[in-house]
Amino acid sequence: MENNDFVCPYCRGQLKPHVKITLAARKKDGTRGMILFNPKLGEYDIYHHPSFKLVDGELLDILCPVCHANLADKTVAKNLAKILMIDEKGEEYQIYFSEIVGMKCTYQIKGDTVEAYGEDAGEYQNYWGVSPRY
Ligand SMILES: [Zn+2]
Repeated sequence: MENNDFVCPYCRGQLKPHVKITLAARKKDGTRGMILFNPKLGEYDIYHHPSFKLVDGELLDILCPVCHANLADKTVAKNLAKILMIDEKGEEYQIYFSEIVGMKCTYQIKGDTVEAYGEDAGEYQNYWGVSPRY
């Protein structure tokens, strides 16, 4: 699992250049910063510079740091961003996660198969009809 790659759905730029998923974020006031995410689905420790202050419950725009595309995918539900994960066998999955700071929900999707992670995964249960898997 730690060898999984994560790429932007638009430019296919590598979003995990080293050990963390690296994404750009924009706050409502226009401030931008980088956030590092744990590549293990269901782990929500994040890293960012102390000058880029994040408040639980605030909605961010999540942007590709390579091509700057907005990663929000409103075709499924609001406040979810989408990136792609490629496992060691080359299988590709859509990974959806909340753009709200502190919201712990992640969905791994391939075809009709949905795996949900995180204690807040029930928030979007209606969209995929899945129960959270801890
Ligand atoms: Zn991109």
